[in-house]
Formats: sequence, structure tokens, C-alpha cells
Amino acid sequence: MNKSKLHIERIFCIGRNYVEHAKELGHEIPKAPVVFIKPSVCAVAPGTKIRYPGNGKDLQHEVELVVQIRKEGIVKHESEALSFISAFTIGLDLTLRDVQDELKKKGLPWEKSKCFEQSAPLGELVTFDHTINLHDIAFDCKVNNIIKQAGNSKDMLFPIEKLLLEISKIWILRPGDLIYTGTPHGVGTLNIGDIVEISSSHTGSFSWTIAE
Ligand code: ZN
Repeated sequence: MNKSKLHIERIFCIGRNYVEHAKELGHEIPKAPVVFIKPSVCAVAPGTKIRYPGNGKDLQHEVELVVQIRKEGIVKHESEALSFISAFTIGLDLTLRDVQDELKKKGLPWEKSKCFEQSAPLGELVTFDHTINLHDIAFDCKVNNIIKQAGNSKDMLFPIEKLLLEISKIWILRPGDLIYTGTPHGVGTLNIGDIVEISSSHTGSFSWTIAE
């Protein structure tokens, strides 16, 4: 697989993009994608120790397919969306679930639960070309070698084309933007000392250790 260069502009994240995951958190199925943005400095390369954030007690893994944007512009039709993608990989949208539940209840922004330091572990990017079907990428997440999540991008509620179209209504896409496309069901807790490993036959495997 060809490795692609890494310049991160912004990290867009999609919430509730898999029906079974929306259900496990007790959410209704959204009519439009839920979008939030993590600072680009939250990205963490494989092999890095991740410091357990100091403001919560239920750190959870969310494995996601990630795509990288190659050019500046707005996607006006779904048919042109894939031409905006330069590379893809898998990553983790780390979440402090206890903090997020509290913020949701109060109607407050999610940053303290989603955008803490090192909250976006990212695998190595693989160059995207037309031989790769982004609508059929299987990927999984293991904690201490036990499988916790196994998903496939074919189960997305809003496919990648639709996500880029919807994001383009609000922001101009820029080279180096990343989109974390949502997590399948099976999200769960990470503890200090755990090794979290994400894998796909299209990208390889990447792991991180949760540290104090
Ligand atoms: Zn997520």
C-alpha cells in the first residue's frame, strides 16, 4: 500500500453514522449528519502513549474510517465527492462518555468530552484511487487483544459522498482536512494500561497504550 503525506488542516468528526451505534447510545436516527471538529493537534501517531484525560472516568474507543481531502473546494454533487479524497485510513475518536453524557444533559458543547489532548489517534494514510471501494471497508478495534468493535463502511447511514456534500454546505473543504466518518456499535471503556489496536486489511494495524 502507498503511504500518503500527512498535513492535517482540520479534523471533522461525524456522530451517529451507524444505526446500531446510535441505538446503543439511545439516540434517534439523525436526519442529517451530526458534525463536530477536533483541533488538528489532537491527532496522535501509532505507537504513542495516550495520557488518560484528567476530567473524566469513562474513556471509550470509537474506531472509524477516516478520509483525507486533497483539494480546496465545495462538493456540489455527490458524484464529484470522491475526487476530493486523496487518502484514507482508520482512527479512533476517543470520547469521555461520562463527560459527554453530562454535557448533553446540560445542552453544553462537547469539547471537554471529545477534543481533549490526544483524542484523535490516527493510522498511517493509504493513497486512495478508483480501485478502492470506500463503501466496503471492514475494520475493527481490539482492546488487549479482545475484539470489541467490528464494522464495515457499507453500513454507514450517510455514505462518504453525502458527508462531503453536507460538510460543504457549512465549510469549504481544504487540502489536509480529515473526516472521521463515525463509529459502528460496540464502543466501550479503556483503562490505564490497556492496549487499543485498530485494524483493516486495507490499511494494516495500529496500536496505542493508555497511560497515566
Ligand atoms: Zn465518533
